[in-house]
Amino acid sequence: MASTGQRSIGILGGGLAGLALAALLAQVGHAVTLYEAGALGGKLGQLEVGGLTFSTGPSLFTFPGVWRRYLTALGEADSLDLQPFPAGLGLHHTPFGSVPLPVPPDHLLAGEWARYVNLVRPLRPHVETLLTTPPRLSDPAFVQASAALGQVLAGHLTAQRWTDAQRFSPLLAHAIQTHALNAGLGPQDAPALYALLPALIADEVSRPARGMGALLNELIRFCRDRGVWLRSHTPVTQLDAARATVRLGSETVRHDLIVSALDPARRAELSGRAVRRGPRTVSGLAIYAAFADAVLLPATSVVAPTNFADFRAATRSTALPPDTLALVHAEERKLALLLTVPASGQQLSLNDAWVRGQIERTERVLGVPGLLDSALDVRALGPAYYAALGTPGGSIYGAAQPFWRAGPFHPQPYRVSGKLWQVGTAVHPGGGIPAILGGALIVRKLIQRR
Ligand SMILES: Cc1cc2nc3c(=O)[nH]c(=O)nc-3n(C[C@H](O)[C@H](O)[C@H](O)COP(=O)(O)OP(=O)(O)OC[C@H]3O[C@@H](n4cnc5c(N)ncnc54)[C@H](O)[C@@H]3O)c2cc1C
Repeated sequence: MASTGQRSIGILGGGLAGLALAALLAQVGHAVTLYEAGALGGKLGQLEVGGLTFSTGPSLFTFPGVWRRYLTALGEADSLDLQPFPAGLGLHHTPFGSVPLPVPPDHLLAGEWARYVNLVRPLRPHVETLLTTPPRLSDPAFVQASAALGQVLAGHLTAQRWTDAQRFSPLLAHAIQTHALNAGLGPQDAPALYALLPALIADEVSRPARGMGALLNELIRFCRDRGVWLRSHTPVTQLDAARATVRLGSETVRHDLIVSALDPARRAELSGRAVRRGPRTVSGLAIYAAFADAVLLPATSVVAPTNFADFRAATRSTALPPDTLALVHAEERKLALLLTVPASGQQLSLNDAWVRGQIERTERVLGVPGLLDSALDVRALGPAYYAALGTPGGSIYGAAQPFWRAGPFHPQPYRVSGKLWQVGTAVHPGGGIPAILGGALIVRKLIQRR
């Protein structure tokens, strides 16, 4: 497998980003070692609650076309058996009423939804290109895809501005703007691209038949099959980027190149540099509950914040908002409830008054008061847990970029210095699995060109 140009590459962090890139680099003949402080998978893990196994972290698999491009680069067949999520993005509850996304043909808003989808959906292949192509003006594919996106965005820079310009009814506008939170920001700050997401993903949002853990297992298998040395439970304690050297406690290892799949703040700490503190995208409190009987709720419900201005003011000052976004998944005896919270790194417990209040609000809106109290067992992972994985404040998508620096269509600092590259959530605002996989493809291409 070794070829001319083969290099020794060390990857810092064994979340989805580090693993995805490790397999790609090993595929083209590099000798790859991956260092992971804990168990492989990072935010995608497993939790036992009341005798049931929950996948933690990501729940929705979107842009399957990006996954297929990733598999093509590896020469692998798709064994994830992606299954459409029942009822797509779910039933959205807003202050103006409730609406399922995608909007079904017999719904009052079906005409508006069709106008939105007809305008946006032709962009899907272009957005996939932007997610997987180095953002270089010398690349015709990048230029063509950016131009197509620019035409639909029509000069509107934020998600709120773009939705306002479409003159949707308040109900559909609120439901769409809620998805700007996929960027970890309110719609006033999120790039306009995020207002296009429901139209781009609603009809193909899915999950592997064997659960999200199957994605992690596949990435690990791809790495092992290509000879990647996966060093889990091996924290990097120091990084010398100029020499491409890592310290692992008393052991020192030198590589030709290092790729960091860590948050830049964590990486800076390891290099002994001052950590730049800027605004962060939101964190989450993920609540996992096991019940004695099947939970009688739709597969996915979204309870939107009442007022995005209040939400923005609170999360910007890392205060708890008056009411927040709740994403609820129900599957047989399992219930997962994700509350969006500021990236404060704080330890939130189920008994905190604010948390109790948000649970009660969600139960009230869904018409199931007292549901969580009837669970056999409940566990929660919050900002402190996510912060321990290495993102300051437990922010899900890393630093909050201003809208003109966010999204997949602006130049990202993939190469930090001569021998140091970066991949993962930190360089792909809006994060998520497609950005992680697409980012790995981009970095692999850029490293190969050197
Ligand atoms: C609650 C929640 C829900 C989400 N929902 C979705 C969803 O529905 N769909 C979607 O696409 N995405 C979703 N996401 C986002 C998605 O999970 C992330 O974008 C993705 O998992 C990030 O992967 P990563 O490899 O960049 O980072 P991480 O998973 O954070 O990996 C970083 C790794 O680095 C390791 N590390 C840290 N310090 C060191 C060190 N010094 N030495 C070695 N290793 C170190 C950590 O232990 C960790 O394993 C969700 C995230 C959360 C938290």
